[in-house]
Amino acid sequence: MQNLTILGSTGSIGVSTLDVVRRHPQSYRLLALCAHRQVDLLFAQCLEFRPRHAVIGDAALAADLAARLAQAGCPTDVAYGPEALLRMARLPEVDAVMAAIVGAAGLPPTLAAVEAGKKILLANKEALVMAGAVFMRAVRQSGAVLLPIDSEHNAIFQSLPSDYSGDLSDSGVSGLYLTASGGPFRTTALADLESVGPEQACAHPNWVMGRKISVDSATMMNKGLEIIEAHWLFNVPAERIEVVIHPESIVHSLVQYTDGSVIAELGNPDMRTPIAHALAYPRRIAAGVEPLDLFKVASLHFERPDFERFPCLALAYRALADGGCAPTTLNAANEVAVQAFLDGRIGFTAIARVIADTMQQLPAGPALGSLAEVLTADRMARLAAENYIAMEPRR
Ligand code: NDP
Repeated sequence: MQNLTILGSTGSIGVSTLDVVRRHPQSYRLLALCAHRQVDLLFAQCLEFRPRHAVIGDAALAADLAARLAQAGCPTDVAYGPEALLRMARLPEVDAVMAAIVGAAGLPPTLAAVEAGKKILLANKEALVMAGAVFMRAVRQSGAVLLPIDSEHNAIFQSLPSDYSGDLSDSGVSGLYLTASGGPFRTTALADLESVGPEQACAHPNWVMGRKISVDSATMMNKGLEIIEAHWLFNVPAERIEVVIHPESIVHSLVQYTDGSVIAELGNPDMRTPIAHALAYPRRIAAGVEPLDLFKVASLHFERPDFERFPCLALAYRALADGGCAPTTLNAANEVAVQAFLDGRIGFTAIARVIADTMQQLPAGPALGSLAEVLTADRMARLAAENYIAMEPRR
């Protein structure tokens, strides 16, 4: 029996995680469910899974949730806010923490779980992008086990040698291919990108996801963040990580070996596969995912990414090359720009301009050495990005 905390239980990854857990009640017990605003869904999750603890975003929502749970006879204890998230990440009885909060808000509790030496199921890629060196140092020091949930990184994890030590030179691995669907605008005329709106950007052709990552997929910043994530997870330099557009999203990523072999993981695009893999690792459990029907798939396609169409991809490679606070700046500016786009304050093509300008304003400098330095860099980048947005003429 593994005891779990889910950070972000009401999101797309959180709900998929609960669906896998529901299938294996004898193997997984929910100790803490943590959400932000969706109190009705959290209430329903508490009634079904009866966790010991539930966390919600603020005091008013917590009072509402606690009253409804008491009335329903559910003994779950309710807390709220960032401090409560840290406590849930560190609960001594917890074995594994699903890190599925979206964006920078996920960093402090995810890092707390790392420092407590938990098994981390890492969906919250932004945490690793913004704090790569600090995060990986904490993993080494605490002995936490880090298992990737992002389907691409999970595929790479499955395709690397089982004894991969993090040293490319003696592994027989020559490089990684990160696959990308190309999102909803892969073939849209460039001139039309200016006027696409949030609903079009969030209509991903293959995956059902939260709104922020859906926009990231449309700009391909998602792949940019994933390049940086792969760099830190597998200790591979950027020049050995190649992005391949693969519109069917069946091959989830590949590892190239020096002898010419290429090993990949394939499956239907359903996040329950990597979630089940990480939950049960090194065993395998049923995830409720349809088996892959190769005859139905019939053909697979691969293309080079177009950097003119997807300028965010080039910005991410640049941030990784610049080092210092550049990835933190990139991530923060992207979060601000995506929210501004979703709120209708800027157009789709302005997202890349906001990030480029913010990176130009804030020099990369030396490597960030602590969580406090990362959070300061994050705050400065958010301010600079908001300033740029205030000045950006609406086109
Ligand atoms: P969603 O937007 O669907 O869910 C986000 C979750 O985070 C919700 O539970 C939300 O709570 C919670 N949350 C938001 N802000 C805060 C905050 N300030 N404090 C505490 N909790 C907060 O996102 P996804 O599930 O799509 O993505 C989650 C993470 O997983 C992201 O980092 C994403 O990049 C990554 N990921 C997602 C994939 C997918 O298929 N969805 C695939 C691979 C990676 P509430 O809803 O109650 O407000």
